Amino acid sequence: MTDLSALPPASALPGCGSAAPVLRERGQREVFCGLTSIVWLHRKMQDAFFLVVGSRTCAHLLQSAAGVMIFAEPRFGTAVLTDRDLAGLADANEELDRVCVALLERRPDIGTLFLVGSCPSEVIKLDLAKAAERLNARLFPRVRVVNFSGSGIETTFTQGEDNALRAMVPLLPQTQAKQLLVVGCLADVVEDQLRRHFAALGIDPVAFFPGRRAAALPGVGPGTLVLAAQPFDGETVRALAGRGARPIASPYPFGAEGTTAWLAAAARAWGVAPERLREVTAPLAARAAKAVARHRDRLAGKRLFVLPDSQLEIPLARFLAREMGMALVEVGTPYLDRQMVAAELALLPAGVTLSEGQHLERQLDRVRAARPDLTVCGLGLANPLEAEGLATKWSIELVFTPIHGYDQAADLAEVFARPLERRARLAV
Ligand code: SF4
Repeated sequence: MTDLSALPPASALPGCGSAAPVLRERGQREVFCGLTSIVWLHRKMQDAFFLVVGSRTCAHLLQSAAGVMIFAEPRFGTAVLTDRDLAGLADANEELDRVCVALLERRPDIGTLFLVGSCPSEVIKLDLAKAAERLNARLFPRVRVVNFSGSGIETTFTQGEDNALRAMVPLLPQTQAKQLLVVGCLADVVEDQLRRHFAALGIDPVAFFPGRRAAALPGVGPGTLVLAAQPFDGETVRALAGRGARPIASPYPFGAEGTTAWLAAAARAWGVAPERLREVTAPLAARAAKAVARHRDRLAGKRLFVLPDSQLEIPLARFLAREMGMALVEVGTPYLDRQMVAAELALLPAGVTLSEGQHLERQLDRVRAARPDLTVCGLGLANPLEAEGLATKWSIELVFTPIHGYDQAADLAEVFARPLERRARLAV
């Protein structure tokens, strides 16, 4: 399990494969909107400010999701659209320009200002692209203004990150140089670990997108190999491909096996010798496999139902089935981006029920009928399901917790083992 070079190619596995039938559902959805992504994006890009152009509801969501920062100046805020703006009685554009200029005067530390669209700004058709253009003409190069949508009209909250990164792609400088570009917002500690692995493999230079400073944009061009670290950044990867970069298909770096597969895909594309890959990854994978084994007893054989929420569902189900021995009842995903998860689908066990989209009532009926040992779901569903005697795990925790890479593999397993552990203790 730990030495991926020993694994058969995906095509030879009795996996779910890309042709597996998918249950497509359309109905009520239970997910956060893209504004949520600001919580982790603002932590990563330390020179960026995210200004949501939205309602008081948007401001409340952001404030409660990100917590109140008392000791630090926050790097996000909401320009609240008032009744007069919404009724078209005030010039929202003029007001927005005034707010942005005042903010930037007060905050000289801001290098990139993201104007984030919301449901209300989209409903009144406030053109944030035009606003960004206007403000750039006035403020660039001291500050760059970028706009993206975080509205609830999108399918799920992780699309907020994809939209933000996608909006930055046209700004990346052109380069012919050979380089590896890792796409997806990662905790700094994870980025540092992965950098060390790439250096040990001789893969250099490596850039991370987004980086710690939004203003320090990586180059892109025909020599760029793109390795996605997050399965929900599909539009960004396709936009980079449109700039001449070459995406590398791979499973995601979750668990020992996933991390080895991810590094192996990069190594193959870069031309690293297989022996070198084995030398670097084998001890790391063995250590990670030993660490996750601590949680295997708790998880092996347990039945798992994954509701659609974060877009991480398919890679995580693969990890839980293959490395932790869980039995997959149903794996739901908000939308199935086959290009981004092809390598993951091939590794899922045969016969698993995959669902795309959501019809909440029907899906909950299936959860109740199956009575799984663990249900991974959004925040709003966890308490009601717990009240019905079902153990749950909030999927949003998985985007806030560092879970990528070898050193985080045990933490990832523990995220799922904990609710079962707690339930077992309560039952004693
Ligand atoms: S963007 Fe839309 S869904 Fe999100 S908080 Fe604002 S109004 Fe609600």
